[in-house]
Amino acid sequence: MNIILLGPPGAGKGTQAKRLTEKYHIPQVSTGDMLREALKEGTPLGLEAKKYMEQGGLVPDDVVIGLVKERIQKPDAGNGYMLDGFPRTAGQAQALDKILGDLGQKIDHVVSIEVPNSELLGRLTGRRTCRACGSGFHLMFDPPKKEGICDKCGGELYQRSDDVESTVKSRLETYEAQTKPLIAYYQNQGKLRRINGVGSMNDILSKIQTVLG
Ligand code: AMP
Repeated sequence: MNIILLGPPGAGKGTQAKRLTEKYHIPQVSTGDMLREALKEGTPLGLEAKKYMEQGGLVPDDVVIGLVKERIQKPDAGNGYMLDGFPRTAGQAQALDKILGDLGQKIDHVVSIEVPNSELLGRLTGRRTCRACGSGFHLMFDPPKKEGICDKCGGELYQRSDDVESTVKSRLETYEAQTKPLIAYYQNQGKLRRINGVGSMNDILSKIQTVLG
């Protein structure tokens, strides 16, 4: 099963994708995670991506399209994958359709996780991630037991540099201008399933599972 999780930054795509991979045994393909990894390793790709990411803009289409094309052909994606944070522009969506056509594949479901703008800023600026194990926390909704320390492994929690308020505002503007139109793109293909992304993580997870069957 090939799935796209669509939604603004802070909608909970990454959180839900991680839980869904456990249930459906298909990998989460997050372009944001791949770019952050490249940045951490200091590869040429990471250095190129850095300037866009820090400003809350988008990395050029050809860069992320190349990443995804390679990733979805790895053996662990043989039974499908869950795209999280890709596609983000009309150009990426069209390129994906072309790549999948060439591979004899298709997208089965596009799940749009919908959260009002007024809620997104607080969600994003409160996020914290464990440097060691990658677990996610939230200062308001899911605070760690000890400030700055991961409950699961004792690692140090950090805030993504693009989760600071000024960058979050740019990311939300970028979403409105470039990514939101994809809702109509997939609606026209008859693949869109809308989910209300306000509520507990478990409720939203079960709504997504109902849609995916
Ligand atoms: P995310 O973790 O999905 O919020 O992505 C973090 C940042 O990585 C974004 O703000 C973009 O700068 C970049 N990025 C992630 N995915 C894409 C994509 N599909 N196209 C362009 N840039 C992306």
